[in-house]
Amino acid sequence: MDQTHTKQDERVELLSLSREELTALMKSIGEPAYRATQLFTQLHRGLSPEQMTNIGKETRRKLAEVADYHLPRIERKLVSAVDGTVKYLFALSDGHCVESVVMSYEHGHTICISSQVGCRMGCRFCASTIGGRVRDLSAGELLGQVIAAQADLAYRIDNIVMMGIGEPLDNFDNVVKFLRLVNEEGGLNIGYRHISLSTCGIVEKIDALSRLDLPITLSISLHAPDDETRSAIMPINNKWGVDALLSACRRYYGVTGRRISFEYTLISGKNDSVAQAEKLAKVLNSHLRSRDESMPIHVNLIPVNEVDETGFVRSGEAAIRSFAKTLEKRGIRATVRRKLGPDINASCGQLRRAAMED
Ligand code: SAH
Repeated sequence: MDQTHTKQDERVELLSLSREELTALMKSIGEPAYRATQLFTQLHRGLSPEQMTNIGKETRRKLAEVADYHLPRIERKLVSAVDGTVKYLFALSDGHCVESVVMSYEHGHTICISSQVGCRMGCRFCASTIGGRVRDLSAGELLGQVIAAQADLAYRIDNIVMMGIGEPLDNFDNVVKFLRLVNEEGGLNIGYRHISLSTCGIVEKIDALSRLDLPITLSISLHAPDDETRSAIMPINNKWGVDALLSACRRYYGVTGRRISFEYTLISGKNDSVAQAEKLAKVLNSHLRSRDESMPIHVNLIPVNEVDETGFVRSGEAAIRSFAKTLEKRGIRATVRRKLGPDINASCGQLRRAAMED
């Protein structure tokens, strides 16, 4: 659903507009194109129209009649004393909250953003899906998380991962619009190669994404090597099983030439045995490397974050090491994800739930 317009308010949402759309809007209130370019750049730097002193009062008044402006508001901010990871709870214009996390690595600053308020995918281990999906985020709200965090931190955000609350491919149109917006010259201008999108595996949307040929990195939340194990923890697997999902990955790679990475959450006693690692290597190799020996395959192993409501327990260190080693032996690169911000519970979904219970 296109949420450029809010239900109560027929004005367009400024942050959801592309440069061309903004130019057309400015033209409709009698303003020249160069004004739209100025406005676009300043909006994407975090200024509200009210703060733009180079735009006259009368223009701002006319603009406010046709367009609405909201930047996610920082409701809470937590900074890790261990590694500087910053976690935001952002309030959207209707009061609903989402989370974003900024992590700093040697190769720059990465923001993890949310794509929906809640989620309807129902993965058993995940905190974000517990209350279901409330609504999709608009393109402007997706972008607004990056703008608001960058304005607050006063350093440039280099990379974006769509791994926060929500399933990005369940909000396809707004997410695609956001990807284009964040890439625009004069705006944040973050390259597609610096953007990753993570999905639980909505196959028809993976195919739709491949047709757009945006050189982003696709990340697949696989979490199990076979249908029995996967369906038990991820309901989406009942619609598209492991075979359908990996076939879509092969098509995606065939069309875009972009490598795909896989997320694998290690849950004690559920999906972390050496036999399951063997199976995983086999299924990845047979689907993805049968025709192209050179396709790089990378698995991120994530010891499950224990969420009170789920009762799942993280795998022990020995099990994690054996799992990784088994994959490596079969030619699959495996890295165990370092936990950032351990003191601020940096994984998404948990701060929003805590705030809802306050
Ligand atoms: N809906 C998208 C993106 C959001 S979740 C997706 O499914 O990919 C981002 C990643 O965190 C996914 O790989 C998800 O499976 C994983 N995840 C969710 N809850 C987790 C938990 N409690 N512990 C570890 N990883 C978790």
